[in-house]
Amino acid sequence: MAEFFDLASELNIASVDPWVLRIPIAEPVVTPMGVVDSAIALFVKVTEKSGETGWGEVWCNFPRYGAAHRATIVSKTLAPFLQSRSFAGPGQAWDAMHRASHILALQSGENGPISAAIAGVDIALWDLVGKRLNQPLWQLLGGRSDKVSCYASLGRAGGGEALIEQGLQRGFKAFKLRVWDDVDKHLTAYVNARKQIGDDCELMADANSSWPQDRAADMSQRFAGLNMSWIEEAIPVDAPTAVWQDLAQRSPVKLAGGENMLSREAFEQHIATGVFAVLQPDMCKWGGFSGGVPLARCIVASGARFCPHIFSGTPGLLASGHLLASANTADGSLEYGIEYNPPRDDFITHAFEDGKLVLGDAPGLGVVLDEERLATYRVRLA
Ligand SMILES: [Mg+2]
Repeated sequence: MAEFFDLASELNIASVDPWVLRIPIAEPVVTPMGVVDSAIALFVKVTEKSGETGWGEVWCNFPRYGAAHRATIVSKTLAPFLQSRSFAGPGQAWDAMHRASHILALQSGENGPISAAIAGVDIALWDLVGKRLNQPLWQLLGGRSDKVSCYASLGRAGGGEALIEQGLQRGFKAFKLRVWDDVDKHLTAYVNARKQIGDDCELMADANSSWPQDRAADMSQRFAGLNMSWIEEAIPVDAPTAVWQDLAQRSPVKLAGGENMLSREAFEQHIATGVFAVLQPDMCKWGGFSGGVPLARCIVASGARFCPHIFSGTPGLLASGHLLASANTADGSLEYGIEYNPPRDDFITHAFEDGKLVLGDAPGLGVVLDEERLATYRVRLA
């Protein structure tokens, strides 16, 4: 089992409640994984026998119907396990959940959904402990500043001028656009984006694993003159190591990835090859804080850039911000989807200052959810 981070704070869990949320969005977003026509999120509320509560979030963006299944893993598998014993701290609970579900994950082939469900519960437990100790998580986890750099992530390659302008006005200094299929189809959008943001801002591309292995290096060549900071998931993460190494040698732009690495071992394997200049774990998919804090330290120590992947509601975004803040890294940057995202934007009061998310001094994640309002979007499960 993976190394985990912990703090002594006894936990006696009374309930673990998954909240599946579906909020319609006006303009559907087309991605290589499917069309996104509503915002779906899975929040988790943990209540201790003392009455203390914490909120977390489980990654559930794809497949679009996957949230209900992950919610059921939380309510039918993790909740009874957590309610049946006490734990010395959230890290011990994270480790115990992984151990208890190990054979189920193997037999079902569902390591991904189970790890994500555990990660979301872990985030809720850390929020609870932070509130109990009356400290914001960034501070409790050893961070020196409550402000984290964010980059603006655009869901589409073209037509983003207005969003980029909005991002510039909000103080963002880095912008990532999506690209898939043939680069030529999208290259104009990148050339225009570079002109719009100027030479002082960073520009990145995310291919979402969609390029053919044998053409990815050629694709990268076409970005060479645009001073790109990275190309993300140029090819699927499970491509053979030799293919990744070959690509890294031939790509003029640095490679990024990590959102689809789902174990500490997977990260260590990729860190060892040095292929990725930028590593982007998603703590709502694997790790939460208990697995995420030691992983972040390992990434920073390796010299790679730590830039957490996140596309979530408020609990997931804030958790990722606290995790990045805890890593005390100068070049880390948090993904921030620039487009309107109801599960995040309708439930957040945190400020952005000069392209940085200000986590503040509120204990735990600092999330205060209006449960009555949240309930209007809740999808009731059978
Ligand atoms: Mg990505």
